[in-house]
Amino acid sequence: MSKLTNSGIFIPSLKQPAASRPVTDIPTPERILVPLVSGDGTFCRLTARIDDTINKGGIIASSDDNSMHVYSPVSGVLAGRQAVLHPIYGNVACAVIENIREKGEDEKKESDINLSGDEVLEIAREKGIVDELDGQLLAEKLAACRNSENLILIADGSDSEPYSSSSWAVINESCPEVYRGLKLAGIAVNTNNIYLGVRLGKKAFSSLQHKYMQEIEPSVFINAGKKYPVNYKFEKDLFKSHPTVCRIGVQACLALYRAAAFGEAPSSCIVTVAGDCVANPQNVRVPFGTLVEDLLRFCGLAQNPEYVIIGDAMTGIAIQNTEIPVVPGISCLLAIKNRVQPPAHACIGCGRCARACHAGLLPYEIMRRLDNMQYERLDYLLPEECDGCGACSHVCPAGLDVTYKVLEARDAQGNIFVKWGTGDEL
Ligand code: SF4
Ligand code: SF4
Repeated sequence: MSKLTNSGIFIPSLKQPAASRPVTDIPTPERILVPLVSGDGTFCRLTARIDDTINKGGIIASSDDNSMHVYSPVSGVLAGRQAVLHPIYGNVACAVIENIREKGEDEKKESDINLSGDEVLEIAREKGIVDELDGQLLAEKLAACRNSENLILIADGSDSEPYSSSSWAVINESCPEVYRGLKLAGIAVNTNNIYLGVRLGKKAFSSLQHKYMQEIEPSVFINAGKKYPVNYKFEKDLFKSHPTVCRIGVQACLALYRAAAFGEAPSSCIVTVAGDCVANPQNVRVPFGTLVEDLLRFCGLAQNPEYVIIGDAMTGIAIQNTEIPVVPGISCLLAIKNRVQPPAHACIGCGRCARACHAGLLPYEIMRRLDNMQYERLDYLLPEECDGCGACSHVCPAGLDVTYKVLEARDAQGNIFVKWGTGDEL
């Protein structure tokens, strides 16, 4: 059960035992499916030819204007194309790569990283680095907050949703590299106010600061509170004088460092695989394009799941078909049998959704106006401030999917068309 607070909610942590195990590499898959979509969502044309042998990091597809690319996450043979209905991209063509070879990584020489903000943004864009926190192209996200006054940039490793511990796994493995990526992102947005956010007990937090004190100022680490969704604003007085906070993912920071230092395009991600049906919950490193069914098979299913969810329990998307590839931005996969879902009934006006909303919205009122087609008054309720955190649905005793309604109002942006007929009028 969740506990309601004045803003945000307390949700139980279900991170064990995945969080307590070391990261495992998935064995080389027989084949992978790489969506022909660049990091900014542009559909790309295949440039490699069928039956070509391709190398990890090689370009296999490009946008029409040749500014964005799709890189191969593995070395293997381009066996063909396959259309896939993907929950993130919709209907998308994928490159099928087979005969995947495990090639020992060549010793790479680190470039001297002395880059301007523009150069950092260009590298992030060119390599198509996607921020796992929200699936946005990192370069676009950083460019959007570049000229904000008093900006605070946080590499958010708090894993604020119930199951995920993939950010913590990345910090555990590669904290100095994540920090170097964060510093580059700080250069790109022109701020020295950079922090590495985690969510740890007091003792674990101090030992993290102590462990890296040679390389990272202890004050760079900040500890998030226990509420969901994460909000660092209340953790430090400092935040009061810095109105703009931009959070980016730790996997994106690591990818930015590797792109700048070694010229690498991101090729893999760490995914938390968990849920009551998973025999061996753990954090797994997978090449992009690995099929969800292969990832579930690797972790083992103790029982057949009723729900397979891409993402975590609060904001994830339930999928029907597991023959879809892991793509940049996915950092959690759940297989769940038992899900508490009260039968939906009418709103009882309890106001819990409003008290849970960290954005200060009135979700029940937005829902009511949408249901009553009072569209002209929706704007006053600022549905565009909703980030889809799911807290309002989670606390609703009437079992209503309030989040869905608020997002519907948000995405309509005042353009709601009323359908008067059956569609047979032509
Ligand atoms: S989903 Fe939107 S409306 Fe609901 S609590 Fe989160 S921010 Fe508020
Ligand atoms: S939508 Fe749910 S949580 Fe919000 S007021 Fe109605 S019953 Fe309460």
